[in-house]
Amino acid sequence: MRDTIPRVVIVGGGFGGLAAAKALKSAPAKVVLIDRTNHHLFQPLLYQVATSELAPGQIGSPIRGILGRQPNTTVILGEVNGVDKDEKCVWVSDVDRRGVPVPYDFLILATGVTHSYFGHDEFAKFAPGLKSLADAVGIRNRILQAFEQAEAEEDPARHRDLLTFVLVGAGPTGVEMAGAIAVLVHNTLKSEFRRINPESARIILLDMAPRVLGAFSEDLSRAAQDRLRKLGVEVRLGHGVDQIDADGVIVAGERILSKTVVWTAGVAPSPAAKWLNAETDRAGRVRVQPDLSVRGHPDIFVIGDTSSLDQDGKPLPGVAQVAMQQGRYAGKLIGRRITGQSPPEPFRYFDKGNMAVVGKGFAVLQSGGVHLSGFLAWLAWAGVHLQFLAQSSLRVSVFVQWVWTYLTGQRGSRLIVNHHGDEPVEPSIEQVPAILTLTKA
Ligand SMILES: Cc1cc2nc3c(=O)[nH]c(=O)nc-3n(C[C@H](O)[C@H](O)[C@H](O)COP(=O)(O)OP(=O)(O)OC[C@H]3O[C@@H](n4cnc5c(N)ncnc54)[C@H](O)[C@@H]3O)c2cc1C
Repeated sequence: MRDTIPRVVIVGGGFGGLAAAKALKSAPAKVVLIDRTNHHLFQPLLYQVATSELAPGQIGSPIRGILGRQPNTTVILGEVNGVDKDEKCVWVSDVDRRGVPVPYDFLILATGVTHSYFGHDEFAKFAPGLKSLADAVGIRNRILQAFEQAEAEEDPARHRDLLTFVLVGAGPTGVEMAGAIAVLVHNTLKSEFRRINPESARIILLDMAPRVLGAFSEDLSRAAQDRLRKLGVEVRLGHGVDQIDADGVIVAGERILSKTVVWTAGVAPSPAAKWLNAETDRAGRVRVQPDLSVRGHPDIFVIGDTSSLDQDGKPLPGVAQVAMQQGRYAGKLIGRRITGQSPPEPFRYFDKGNMAVVGKGFAVLQSGGVHLSGFLAWLAWAGVHLQFLAQSSLRVSVFVQWVWTYLTGQRGSRLIVNHHGDEPVEPSIEQVPAILTLTKA
């Protein structure tokens, strides 16, 4: 038997889901937020974890902690696998239970996106993407490990592929990662190794598009590309990758030897459309009505990256601001419906602009007619990112870390963390001579 108090189930504690939950703070409703991780993640700074500037705990906050003072809200750690629209429930699994029905009166799906290898899922093994904290720590391990391996390697011929870092995709994530690896090499690592020169590392940024940061204006793309060139990043545009394997990548028929390839290209929406059997756009995102509900289901809302809505003839972009504004809107609409008030006007996105960082103290910023690149844009970028971190403690800690890194070049978290424990490494036959020589030296 169901409660008389309406129950709002929110799936996903990312930018959209969290904003929706907060908007329902004072609503006479029982809010249940379900996420498969226990933390809200500030994805725009993931690249800083992957390049050792910040520690994982500086960009993630426990969802339970963020919503702890919201008495009408319960947080559940679990993975949603489906929606039963007739029974009005979602199916949730956790470590010891499968397919537990959680009933709803209103449902908000805010499940984001996942990596897309454009039909080449076999690339995933060799070119991890950057979406979660585990991804970021995995990439950090690979980058730091590459320098350690090169330092221990006697054969200079092998340094080349160990110290070649390839980023596939020159959108904001690829550009930010490439710039950050360059700064890591030139500012932090350059004096710490004895047998290799970290500054000899090659950083290669690939994209099939004709310019980097395609969502920005051409002048800002050019500014970002010039900056990357100054940082020593090789930018190769106009060709997609043909192959990614254990030896590196093949692009435009050329083999680039590399032990560290990172996928910073495509994303695909979560399976929300399949759960709902709903209309989608070409990318598989759920097409929503102007009030963000699903056609024929006024009690189900889809928001953020996993939804598709056109505004002024163009689809809204998959960015944090869209997700947050949609979350607030859906929460407010449900609150008004529960209390018998008239619905708000259809959703309209207010675009505050786009920013991307390119190395130390340099960013590009596009907001309305304003196009800015350089240090001022970087200050604006830093201010905005600090403001949107989920908790004050994170704002303080990230600010202090940034100032420290800016002044000293030292990084917040340069640990290689092996989550499989301290298993002994089995040397392969060809590794043995190098290890023996090293021991004798
Ligand atoms: C590396 C990177 C850098 C970015 N940089 C920027 C930037 O600089 N500026 C910007 O505006 N945007 C940036 N974005 C995009 C921005 O992060 C997204 O647009 C935003 O996170 C979308 O919010 P969302 O709520 O739709 O999804 P998310 O924030 O991704 O949240 C989805 C949530 O749903 C949970 N979830 C997913 N599936 C399930 C399930 N089946 N069951 C339970 N829980 C589930 C996830 O654990 C997650 O917590 C970046 C994204 C990435 C990956």
